[in-house]
Amino acid sequence: MSAISHHVPDAMLAAYAAGNLPHAFAVTVASHVSLCGQCRVALGAHQAVGGAVLEDTPVVAVSSSLKDDIFAQLDAPFTPEPVHERNGIFPGPVMEALKGREPQWKTLGMGVRQDILSADTNGSVRLLYIPPGQAVPDHSHNGLELTLVLQGSFSDETGRFGVGDLEIADEHLEHTPVADDGAPCICLAATDARLRFRALVPRLLQPLFRI
Ligand code: ZN
Ligand code: ZN
Repeated sequence: MSAISHHVPDAMLAAYAAGNLPHAFAVTVASHVSLCGQCRVALGAHQAVGGAVLEDTPVVAVSSSLKDDIFAQLDAPFTPEPVHERNGIFPGPVMEALKGREPQWKTLGMGVRQDILSADTNGSVRLLYIPPGQAVPDHSHNGLELTLVLQGSFSDETGRFGVGDLEIADEHLEHTPVADDGAPCICLAATDARLRFRALVPRLLQPLFRI
């Protein structure tokens, strides 16, 4: 596995540590953290600080013992405590969202397939299967979209994303992710709002596929 180069932004890790992320994003962040030592350490720091703030009232200047506590937490191995264990390419949090079942791929056309893990008015999280060389239809976003690569890689206007890399797209980005050559690209994709497709046909199909 090549090194992970696209990580969870610090503010998002803090929101995750505080339990403030919508379910779809929380599953995706937990999955990245389970693959990424760097974000695991950063998350541990947020959790230590969050716990210290809750425990230490009245608030005093940051003591050396608090600092020691934080660094002790950094040394302690953190696990997101998924009920399910990693299975093949699927991290524990994904297995948890799958409720232990195998993915049930539904075709989206052009060889692209998906398995919706959960979808409601707050967003959706799904597995995407993209054959080598195939593009996900050109689209922009009404909200945030998080894409975590689990197998293979894809490239778009912003760069290349391999296993463990997390792409964050917002309303300012219009992109066309294309799966690279090699193994089919399998991603975990989470949104907090519906995507906007430029082409008419995908837009017509949108209600059907709940993208
Ligand atoms: Zn990371
Ligand atoms: Zn997108």
